[in-house]
Amino acid sequence: MKILIAEDDPSFRHFLEEILATWGYEVAVARDGNEALQILQSENAPKLAILDWKMPGMEGIEVCRTIREVAEEPYTYIILLTSQQRDEDLVIGMEAGADDYILKPFKLNELRVRLRAGRRIIELQDELLAAREILRAKATHDSLTGLLNHEEILDILDRELARSERDGHCVSIIMVDIDHFKKVNDTHGHLAGDAVLRITAQKMHAIERVYDAVGRYGGEEFLLILPECCQECAITIAERLRVWISSESMDTPEGIIPVTISLGVATSSRDGIRDGRCLIKAADTALYKAKENGRNRVELASNEP
Ligand code: GH3
Ligand code: MG
Ligand code: MG
Ligand code: MG
Repeated sequence: MKILIAEDDPSFRHFLEEILATWGYEVAVARDGNEALQILQSENAPKLAILDWKMPGMEGIEVCRTIREVAEEPYTYIILLTSQQRDEDLVIGMEAGADDYILKPFKLNELRVRLRAGRRIIELQDELLAAREILRAKATHDSLTGLLNHEEILDILDRELARSERDGHCVSIIMVDIDHFKKVNDTHGHLAGDAVLRITAQKMHAIERVYDAVGRYGGEEFLLILPECCQECAITIAERLRVWISSESMDTPEGIIPVTISLGVATSSRDGIRDGRCLIKAADTALYKAKENGRNRVELASNEP
């Protein structure tokens, strides 16, 4: 684990540096408070820090306060080192946000066990952050296809529409529905149906540009959001996807299955549709038209609000 030592006394700093290295820490050193703050606010900063209270420039306690004010994640576990001995100093140190406090001179064993406690806190916090990331991914993604889920893709649509209002560009969306999907389930079974959904999702994911977003809107329906994409560009993308899906049968564990999709394209505009619900409704209507007109085709929504 990486650790920062901020200590202005060179011989004591070297001594600590060597000891910590022999205990297996990867050591970063700072000669004063400003340097310490810089290191603690850099990328991949140490999450464990030993700060001397008295240092030229910024004192250890100031570094501590500044770090806590910013309160960035991940948490930095801070041990203040000091020769101040008054009870109120302890209070001041802890109120500044220090996690622990060691009086100079101290026994090495004491430092060692205090560091162990700090490390345990940091490790627990890493586990919590990782668990939170997993939960966040679960809350925003569809478990079968790995695409964004219904709520998330609609949130993104609202955000993109708000951004487009400010920047004056348009947003296109493509609503995609697998044709006769019920028949896939009925003929090949639900596992085959699931595989078809996954492969369709992979292809949609592969076709999206950097700023696009693709989500599973519902059962066998997908929504592609294309910011800064005009109607013509959206039709080209929709057509490319349609051709790709219909031209290669899908290789599923339950057999080779031919699949086609129908697509409805809608585009926002300043004097036309500007609201997420209306845009979805328009794309839905276009999709319905594609179904009516024989499936395996792209239809365009009218631009009227
Ligand atoms: P159309 O061409 O008109 O869209 O016909 P369709 O059969 O695709 O449409 P319909 O709405 O009749 O059927 C959709 C089916 O999708 C019904 C439902 O059981 C199935 N489905 C929805 N979610 C899943 C899923 O997660 N896995 C599987 N295997 N099937 C699903
Ligand atoms: Mg000092
Ligand atoms: Mg459907
Ligand atoms: Mg369908």
